[in-house]
Amino acid sequence: MHRAASLTVFDGHSSIGGTKILFEQGEARLLLDFGTNYKRMGEFYEEYLKPRASRGLTDYLELGLLPQVRGLYRPDLFPPYDYPRRDADWSGERPTAVLLTHAHLDHCGAVGFVDPTIPVVSTPMTLALLRAWQETGSTDLTSEITYVGSRTPTDRGGGPGDSLPGRLLQGDREAARRARPFWLWGGVPDGFAETLRRSPFGGRTPFEAVDPVAAPRMLGDVPVESHGVDHSVYGASAFLIEADGGLVAYSGDLRRHGELGKETEGFLRRLEAKRPEVLIVEGTRLSASGNAPGQPMTTEQEVEANCRREVERYPGRLVVADFGPRNVERLRSFRRIANAVGRSLVLTPKDAYLLQMLHSVDPSIETDLGPGGMRILEEPSVGLPRAWQSLVVDRFGDAYLNPHDVATNPGRYLLCFSFFDCNDLVDLKKERATEGGLWLYSSSEAHGEEQEFDFLRLQKWIGWAGMHQVGFRYEPGPSGVPELRFDHPDDIGHHASGHATEAELLELIDRANPKVIVPVHTEQSPQRYEELLRAKGVPARVLAPRAGVRLTW
Ligand SMILES: [Zn+2]
Repeated sequence: MHRAASLTVFDGHSSIGGTKILFEQGEARLLLDFGTNYKRMGEFYEEYLKPRASRGLTDYLELGLLPQVRGLYRPDLFPPYDYPRRDADWSGERPTAVLLTHAHLDHCGAVGFVDPTIPVVSTPMTLALLRAWQETGSTDLTSEITYVGSRTPTDRGGGPGDSLPGRLLQGDREAARRARPFWLWGGVPDGFAETLRRSPFGGRTPFEAVDPVAAPRMLGDVPVESHGVDHSVYGASAFLIEADGGLVAYSGDLRRHGELGKETEGFLRRLEAKRPEVLIVEGTRLSASGNAPGQPMTTEQEVEANCRREVERYPGRLVVADFGPRNVERLRSFRRIANAVGRSLVLTPKDAYLLQMLHSVDPSIETDLGPGGMRILEEPSVGLPRAWQSLVVDRFGDAYLNPHDVATNPGRYLLCFSFFDCNDLVDLKKERATEGGLWLYSSSEAHGEEQEFDFLRLQKWIGWAGMHQVGFRYEPGPSGVPELRFDHPDDIGHHASGHATEAELLELIDRANPKVIVPVHTEQSPQRYEELLRAKGVPARVLAPRAGVRLTW
């Protein structure tokens, strides 16, 4: 039986992130992104209260943090006590593939729960970023995006055991971790499969590699094309799905400027040429009704020029560049700045590992780590190094610096750090490397209260280390209470958003000229999009998503 194309948005339509969209037509049931909804997670959880790994899917499903989609989830994550029939009572049919637009966790952070027999389709760069993130990060359930360790029910917990047998799940230390099957847009780059065959565990835990394969032109019986776009992470793409009733396009997250701004323009031209029936479009920077549209736009090129000017104001002093951990485009901007002003960029070992992983996908990504090139700040640790740590030491051993080395000539270094590296400031300050230096904050504004507290802590660290700061400030507001600000004239221009401005989004829709738009990834209501489109004279109809409701057009 042939069914008309439909879309079901499960999540991520009234929040920035958490995107989970199902496209269905006949034998093609494609999940477009499967991200973590941090806003909804934050309504229940915080740093010290998290879903329990030993309960598998239970906490997520019961709290409505994951949708009920039959056949989607790993069978080993249903505790038999809670779900004796697993998902047999749910409706719908098993998705045939998960397509990821990019490697931000609000778009792919729930893939760890997905049945590993369902292939994940992405760019090679997205896979490389996710694999490096998983290898170097903490090992919990949600991290199992590129390889998986299966769980089995156990009745033996830490205490007297469980009197309700079948509630607890446990990982098997001896069992092999198995790579997820990935299908890669544009094929598998030379040598990349080999890089992925390397075990993340050394010899300690068995690892079964699964070589990625080239994504086919047809997914199910539907032609699907990925188109590169620029975003604040490499490897981002948009999708064009040739459904029977006409083209369905999905923007993912995108912006017009940046290194790959031309790719975004290419995507737009493709839309102009094909005229989509439906455009699923992000709306991160839409303004609230009655507000002036967004902040002025800073481009990546301006960020580089502005940051360079700041670095030049601190000759002989240490400068710290603080930017998003997977923003390699920004890292490369700071590498160019360092080279231009006679400094060396200093990375954490994790950054070094990430760069060599990305280099195996795109050889133009620099890995000049060593004397005369980029350096690595030693991370003191005891105990057995993890496989990725050994690899960085083996490959780039002569790039390492300790805090004393940095202190002998702090003006020679530009250190890539963030709030979560602040413990290392203790050693740098003790060696007198930080006094009079600069903390250059080049990342996004705080989202929510908890992050605001982190900025308060960060400012405390910076002040304690005797450094100056630019990019944000806490200062007494009109009522005398300290307020977090990013809009002081001295602070703006050191970061560029990964998202198109409101005006650019409206222009994109105007040029694509779709019959229908489905707004996602926004905190504004669908009516707000309607208002803005009407004011601009764009005829597209807004189809408002509701969680789990099938949309047709
Ligand atoms: Zn994103």
